[in-house]
Amino acid sequence: PFQLPPLPFDQNALEPHISGKTISFHYGKHHQKYISTTNELIRGTRFENSTLEQIIKETAGNADQRKIFNNAAQSWNHWFFWNCLTPGGGKIPTGKIGQAINSSFGNYDNFAKELFDAAVAQFGSGWAWVVRDGERLKVMKTPNADNPIAHDLKPILTIDVWEHAYYLDYQNKRQDFVMSVINNLINWDFAEKNYSE
Ligand code: FE
Repeated sequence: PFQLPPLPFDQNALEPHISGKTISFHYGKHHQKYISTTNELIRGTRFENSTLEQIIKETAGNADQRKIFNNAAQSWNHWFFWNCLTPGGGKIPTGKIGQAINSSFGNYDNFAKELFDAAVAQFGSGWAWVVRDGERLKVMKTPNADNPIAHDLKPILTIDVWEHAYYLDYQNKRQDFVMSVINNLINWDFAEKNYSE
């Protein structure tokens, strides 16, 4: 069965941008529940020995398997999201990913604005993403559990914009949460690794 993967930082390490209390619920309760539910749903099925990525690809768009898709995708999305965050992150990226940002968006500021706008514009629960499409980077948003893997795109970065990601710290001010993540927490080393592999 799938296990809750370890957080790549201490629970309080993202303060003041994301509180330890938010992480304790978001990671300890929400992420854990998606994993437990995935395990319950796949027990005794053909997915029992699959990876989350395989389950996501094989159940995407299939109405009969919507529940498995939602829980497997949310299990994967949260693992990916924690790795997109790091204390002292959010600096202007260098390396291959920095070059790709400049060639795809013109400059970092254009990129940051596009990512911010997508995250704020996602109506209701969902995710904002940076994906690789060939050599270029694109920003996209997805509702609920949907993710780029389900659309054969390579995820590079994400921001969770479900209310559970920010409500304890920012209440209804999603824009303040998103701005804070972009400016202070983005783990560009993880993005570079995703872009290069
Ligand atoms: Fe979440």
